[in-house]
Amino acid sequence: MLVLVLNAGSSSLKYQLMKPESGEVLASGLCERIGIDGKLVHESLGKKSKKEIDMPTHKEAIEVVLETLTSGETKVIDSIDEIEAIGHRVVHGGEYFNSSVIVDDDVISKLKELIPLAPLHNPANIMGMEIAKEILPTKPNVAVFDTAFHQTMPASNYMYAVPYEDYKDHGVRKYGFHGTSHYYVSNKAKEALNKDDSKIIVCHLGNGSSVCAVRDGKSIDTSMGLTPLEGLMMGTRSGDIDPGVMAYLMEKKNMSAEEVTNYLNKKSGLLGVSGISSDLREVIEACENGDERAKTTIDMKCNRIKKYICSYAGMLEGVDAICFTAGIGENADLIREKVCSGLEFMGIEVDTHKNKDRTSCDIKEINKDTSKTKIFVIPTNEELVIAQDTYNLVKA
Ligand code: AMP
Repeated sequence: MLVLVLNAGSSSLKYQLMKPESGEVLASGLCERIGIDGKLVHESLGKKSKKEIDMPTHKEAIEVVLETLTSGETKVIDSIDEIEAIGHRVVHGGEYFNSSVIVDDDVISKLKELIPLAPLHNPANIMGMEIAKEILPTKPNVAVFDTAFHQTMPASNYMYAVPYEDYKDHGVRKYGFHGTSHYYVSNKAKEALNKDDSKIIVCHLGNGSSVCAVRDGKSIDTSMGLTPLEGLMMGTRSGDIDPGVMAYLMEKKNMSAEEVTNYLNKKSGLLGVSGISSDLREVIEACENGDERAKTTIDMKCNRIKKYICSYAGMLEGVDAICFTAGIGENADLIREKVCSGLEFMGIEVDTHKNKDRTSCDIKEINKDTSKTKIFVIPTNEELVIAQDTYNLVKA
């Protein structure tokens, strides 16, 4: 089966055409600057190409993708009829969805209801589905949610300590995100451990970052909350902060709620503290050149990950494996080393040599042979999970 995986953002559209049974990727790419001018970065048949194409809306972007897949030097299929289903990444499924679903009118109306919880993401995701239905009317669409994997969290972990009516009336609770990645990575680790009642902590460390505690394949807690702002320090997001800071800033700097939200989402994190960049590589470089603020930034980033690992190890009553994934988790040996150092008392012993090894594979063990806890580096593959869920629902 050929599945087209779509991840529609507010001005972007990521895509992959893949075979879910084998995981083979026939083509992948990204449409950027939709609604501004339009840029396509595409890869197929081992070649990368870039071009500027007008994309006033997501409709033109999807048309460009389909055209690119079926014609010219980038052609990988003869006709769009060969695409059998479309899998969509959806950011927020609220409490409605604890697994992937075939998209119908009821699903779309529930996703619309959830827009206040994900005002930046769900509208673009819904638009992607509506346009795919319009352009490929006979093909099934499947929604795969970032939040679904975390629906197994117990109330004692997902509730906030605020008046209960706000949970009931307005859905104020922790939902968690990066669920597809946490599922994929923890499942790989679970297979490698081959053990009943496995206790796994996944650190998804990218521009957006979150940690997840997974007991016997189920998420029991995660660091992101009602929105993807809670938890770890990220590229431009503050992560955990005293909520009192918001009221204080609103008063001191005369900021509106929208301005504070923007400040915490776009101007904080690595960028805000270092004053250098949201890209960790640049912060590491500055640190190596003796920049004190960059050093503090990196120490903060690592200490906060360590805090979550220790807290989740307590909640899991032990830990069999710590997994690192996403841009930072997969590539930054310095961060993995700093996060794990000092945790030897918990049976976590990183092997410096293995940690620095840069060969890429599905799962790499970087702990010492004496380490009671395994430490894995596992490249995430959210698109594969989306394609496989789509395949499983469509063929059922
Ligand atoms: P992602 O959002 O998963 O694409 O991850 C993006 C983050 O990964 C950025 O902060 C990058 O600086 C970081 N990153 C990618 N490669 C490296 C590397 N070799 N060393 C340190 N950070 C990296």
